[in-house]
Amino acid sequence: MTVSAVENGVSGMRCYTRPMPSTNVSSCWRIALPLPLPRLFDYLPPAGIGPDAGWVGCRVRVPFGKGERIGHVEAIGEPAEDAPELRRAFAVLDREPLLHGELLASLRWCARYYHAPLGEVIATALPAVLRDGEPLPETCAYGWLLTEAGQTGLAGLRRNTRTRALAERIAHAAVDESILADAGDGWRAAARALERRGYAQRVALPGGMSGIGGVSAHELNPSQREAVAAVLAARDRFAPLLLEGVTGSGKTEVYLEAIADCLARGRQALVLVPEIGLTPQMLRRFRARLGVPIHALHSGLSDGERARAWTSMWRGEGRVLVGTRSAIFTPLPEAGLIVVDEEHDASYKQHEGVRYHARDLALLRGKALGVPVLLGSATPSLESLQHALAGRYAHLRLRQRAGAAQPPGVRVHDVRGRALVGGLSPEAFDAIAATLARGEQALVFRNRRGYAPVLLCHDCGWSARCARCDAATQGVAMTVHGGGRTLMCHHCGARRPAPRACPDCGGLALVPQGQGTERVEEALAERFPDALLLRVDRGTTRLRDGLERHLAELGERPGILVGTQMLAKGHDLPNLTLVCVVGIDEGLFSADFRAPEKLAQLLIQVAGRGGRAGKPGSVLLQTHHPDHPLLATLLAGGYPAFAALELAQREAAGLPPFGFLALLRAEAARAAAVDEFLARARDAFGSADPSVSIHGPLPAPMPRRAGRARAQLHVASRHRPALQAAMQAWIERLYSLPSARKVRWSLDVDPVDLY
Ligand code: ADP
Ligand code: ZN
Ligand code: ZN
Repeated sequence: MTVSAVENGVSGMRCYTRPMPSTNVSSCWRIALPLPLPRLFDYLPPAGIGPDAGWVGCRVRVPFGKGERIGHVEAIGEPAEDAPELRRAFAVLDREPLLHGELLASLRWCARYYHAPLGEVIATALPAVLRDGEPLPETCAYGWLLTEAGQTGLAGLRRNTRTRALAERIAHAAVDESILADAGDGWRAAARALERRGYAQRVALPGGMSGIGGVSAHELNPSQREAVAAVLAARDRFAPLLLEGVTGSGKTEVYLEAIADCLARGRQALVLVPEIGLTPQMLRRFRARLGVPIHALHSGLSDGERARAWTSMWRGEGRVLVGTRSAIFTPLPEAGLIVVDEEHDASYKQHEGVRYHARDLALLRGKALGVPVLLGSATPSLESLQHALAGRYAHLRLRQRAGAAQPPGVRVHDVRGRALVGGLSPEAFDAIAATLARGEQALVFRNRRGYAPVLLCHDCGWSARCARCDAATQGVAMTVHGGGRTLMCHHCGARRPAPRACPDCGGLALVPQGQGTERVEEALAERFPDALLLRVDRGTTRLRDGLERHLAELGERPGILVGTQMLAKGHDLPNLTLVCVVGIDEGLFSADFRAPEKLAQLLIQVAGRGGRAGKPGSVLLQTHHPDHPLLATLLAGGYPAFAALELAQREAAGLPPFGFLALLRAEAARAAAVDEFLARARDAFGSADPSVSIHGPLPAPMPRRAGRARAQLHVASRHRPALQAAMQAWIERLYSLPSARKVRWSLDVDPVDLY
């Protein structure tokens, strides 16, 4: 096709025109717009452009209401007979389709499966810069190289400085900026200093150029070799493989080996990791082993960086992309492998907008692309495990820790009747003291941030509640923070100073009840005044890199880490030998059917942090319910025994993975509006299929949050296609309900949380 670029005066964006081929003049473009409406919008192409199918997948700028939107040409169509006169699109923004082939087909599938408008799915899939209609960014990689003047002057540079070290590194060949960045933040200032003297220059690197690495750090053990062989045997077709191996069993080494093979065959690899799993440490390990630039995609990057990573894969230049949830929408024109690390992790499920599950989409895309999908976990989701047990997924197992590491010894510690200080028993304090005395590190895990979960008046029983939130039967307690000075609601974020006196009786006996990480930290600081103490939770560590930095600061020095589940993953801590788990009892009695699975996974992940490098680790699990079946089963038979028991119960109850669920959630300022909508929605359901059932309206587990009333309908079936068919018919009726306009509603297929 012949294409010419013209500058568009209105927005300054580039747009393209093509000579008009001879097509039916009454044809129009069906355009997907990012709007919560289940339909496409018809437009005429801009003047001088024909509506031919070559434009499908291109971005367009169209008038909408009084403003304008960026959308995608989804199809060519005929306007309806009675349609009002169509408006013309302003401009086409792409020279060739941005979305096409497998990715476009997968996005359409995603829209159908999650019953989300295609325009919203596309907006979710694209990096912000491209969603906003900007041109594809330049994706060339840059590196630094010493000039001739630099070669001559090198010897004159002061020794033991950053500048000298950098000059030596880039003396013989250009080094990629992303690789230089691994060495720390200071490299750029050093590079600029060299540049000012004419000693160094920034040079464009040919795509896919190799940096360092290419060597496997270890000889694989037999189970690892078997796992790698299974992935390689499935090279050129879709094959789901579940790699089950405890933390430290060498799963990452298996991924790296399989990715190296993929690269050797000229293919691209996509690696998904959980929010917290994508550490600079991990990226360094990938770069060092694979010797190609590793593109990263996560929320900590700038919009420009995200767009560059995406585009580099789109152009087929990027070879490996490691990213969090939304990276599942990365184009893979030369796909060879998809890896999902910690596949059970809840962060793969999107909780707003298009509620997709990145692991499920990984399987879908693997199938469409005809490549293996490797799911790794120490504690697989019951969904994936059931597929493996039923023989639908290959089940690869790494039964032992790699290298010399020993599995930790776990002890359930009955604390009934014990005197607890900051939630810790005397035995726990002793174990920590002994660990410090050996020069090792201890981790105290408490999955509750803040100082204390409740502020109670000892005189009259009043407790501080959030004015805007309610749980099922009562108000929501505000968490005490700042050593007792502040109250905060963890559900809506409301904050206020803690009262000095009880608002009900005026008494002064206000006491924080229970333990949060701050209070555990306080008790430890009192008992071990000289020990290095580090608290890690969302209060202290907002950024991914923050956690890294904190842990690097600690290094291998003896000390104590206190924290929430943020500590369950990430950075390797070779000197950590004791894990104390405090107060998991709330999790044993939750109403959510997934709570036991989540608790078991969390316990195993946390326990797995101890004893990784040759030193034996131990785990002390404090509880008031030492005989609880979950703990007993986990202890006796590990995760497989727990999973078998839990799967049997799910099967008996028809719950996932043996049944399928969808949730219709609604919320509004007025409870009556929510009730009205859900009642009408239920009336509109009308599926005659006996295998599909609808339940509710049910109050949400939190019937009021941030001042808004919330309730839901549950739809269930033992057959996924039956559920899908029922939803498809239902959703169209939902959009046309007048009561739907008075609430905020959303549909969640395969919900992970029932909140
Ligand atoms: P996982 O991803 O299962 O947690 P890793 O691949 O990170 O496990 O391996 C855990 C540790 O064991 C790492 O320090 C890694 O370098 C080391 N390791 C992995 N495979 C081997 C092996 N075959 N021999 C010796 N050490 C290994
Ligand atoms: Zn009182
Ligand atoms: Zn609240």
